[in-house]
Amino acid sequence: MLIILLGPPGAGKGTQAESIVKNYGLAYVSTGDILRKAVKEETPLGCKARENMNQGQLVPDNLVVEIVRERLMEPDCFKGALLDGFPRTVDQAVFLDQALPDIGTKIDSVLLIEVEEDELIERLTGRRVCSDCGANYHLKFKPPKVRNVCDQCGGDLYQRDDDTLETVKERLDVYKKQTEPLIKFYQEKGLISEVNGNKDINGVYEQIKSILDNL
Ligand code: ADP
Ligand code: AMP
Repeated sequence: MLIILLGPPGAGKGTQAESIVKNYGLAYVSTGDILRKAVKEETPLGCKARENMNQGQLVPDNLVVEIVRERLMEPDCFKGALLDGFPRTVDQAVFLDQALPDIGTKIDSVLLIEVEEDELIERLTGRRVCSDCGANYHLKFKPPKVRNVCDQCGGDLYQRDDDTLETVKERLDVYKKQTEPLIKFYQEKGLISEVNGNKDINGVYEQIKSILDNL
């Protein structure tokens, strides 16, 4: 099984992914997480990706598709995978279609999570992330029990470099220009299921659950 989470930055993809992978036993594949780890560890990939990421731009397709090809070949993906943040361009989607027969799977559904722009800005600028386990919080909508401390592992919470207002606006612009064309791409294949992401976290998950339970 292969499920894709599509939607603008801040739509709640990572937040929903946590529940989806737990409840449906899927491997989690987030290109953003893989790239951030590479940047932190200063690997050759991280050094190439850092500047694009900090400016709110996409990392070049050729780097990203290699990450995904390798990741989908890892054994935990054989049971099925949830893609978060990939594909983000039509070229990446075409690559995925071409790679899937080798990997022995096909796309079951593309969950399109849509949210109003003002809400996206509020969600992204208030997002906080655990520096140890990567768990996601929000200052207002999902605060940790103790200020700046992760509920799950006790790690320190930080604000992502690309979650500043200026970079958030750039990322939303990049989404409109480079990623939104994917909606039509997958609509034509009959794969899109729409999710109203404006609801609270549980309300969004309920919609996703009813889609996945009916696949
Ligand atoms: P994405 O992975 O799509 O960029 P996240 O899942 O990281 O988005 O969510 C962005 C921010 O919004 C996080 O701080 C998260 O806690 C918060 N958030 C996610 N879903 C909701 C929701 N339905 N209502 C309010 N806040 C949310
Ligand atoms: P995310 O964690 O999904 O918000 O991604 C953070 C950043 O990583 C993006 O703004 C891009 O710079 C980069 N990135 C993540 N996924 C991709 C992708 N599929 N293609 C290109 N760049 C990506």
